[in-house]
Amino acid sequence: MSGKGSKVLVDDLMRVYKAGKLEVVALRGVDMEVAEGETVAIMGPSGCGKTTLLNLIGGLDRPTAGRVIVDGITVSDLNDTQLVFYRREKVGFVFQFFNLVSTLSVRENVELPMTAAGKSASSRRERVDELLKAVDMKHRERHRPDELSGGEQQRVAIAAALANDPPLILADEPTGELDTETGSQILNLFKSLKETYGKTEIIVTHDKRVGRIADRVLVIRDGSIVGEEEVDIPTYRAKEQLETENAALKEQLQKLTAILSGFEKELKGPT
Ligand code: ADP
Ligand code: MG
Repeated sequence: MSGKGSKVLVDDLMRVYKAGKLEVVALRGVDMEVAEGETVAIMGPSGCGKTTLLNLIGGLDRPTAGRVIVDGITVSDLNDTQLVFYRREKVGFVFQFFNLVSTLSVRENVELPMTAAGKSASSRRERVDELLKAVDMKHRERHRPDELSGGEQQRVAIAAALANDPPLILADEPTGELDTETGSQILNLFKSLKETYGKTEIIVTHDKRVGRIADRVLVIRDGSIVGEEEVDIPTYRAKEQLETENAALKEQLQKLTAILSGFEKELKGPT
């Protein structure tokens, strides 16, 4: 798989839903930039426009005003045919409810997007193997989704999202249906995907622990981005720091011990 991520630019993005006479302003002028290979988390209360924003970036919906530009492509200018191509080649979607085809095996689910993209059987086979290994699901390749746990299904869904090697991963509450520990594992998987493959990731979540894996956390309220939250010093980073300090102390101790044993020898004098 190539190691390239997308550059995303969201410019004064608005989305107004009309239901009869009723108008819902879901996004009221959102600006954001995501750099190539960056992981950005988007947090905010229910109904504030997170899904709307992600759908617009992913070309699943069209804005009322404003633009989304991904790697120089103005997504809102694409016609329907171009949008299909954009979604298939550029974007890997990961949803809250795993989005797998229940009648297909794990293997077939991961293969499906590549079949749709017209990839050859041999390249599909190879890629499926690689992806299933990357998400640690190779041992379950013949199983159907309903025979898997939620966390396992989400790992397969992530493999399927990566099938066509898209530079941009969009995840909408990917841990929303998972218990704390499993959710944590899925977040770690996003972290390793970013590190291994250099994907750009935009992750919508309620999960505060996303701070551990995100480069930035954007906070959205009522259709606007209201700020950027300082990412807490993540536990794993604190742990890493302690381990480094520990190693340094150990080294110092070894040196001191060596010096002391030298003194000891001197004190004892020649034997
Ligand atoms: P979030 O994902 O943050 O929970 P959404 O983007 O789903 O928020 O929704 C933002 C606002 O837009 C909400 O008030 C929601 O009710 C409204 N909304 C979302 N989709 C539609 C739609 N298809 N038609 C009308 N209103 C919608
Ligand atoms: Mg939502």
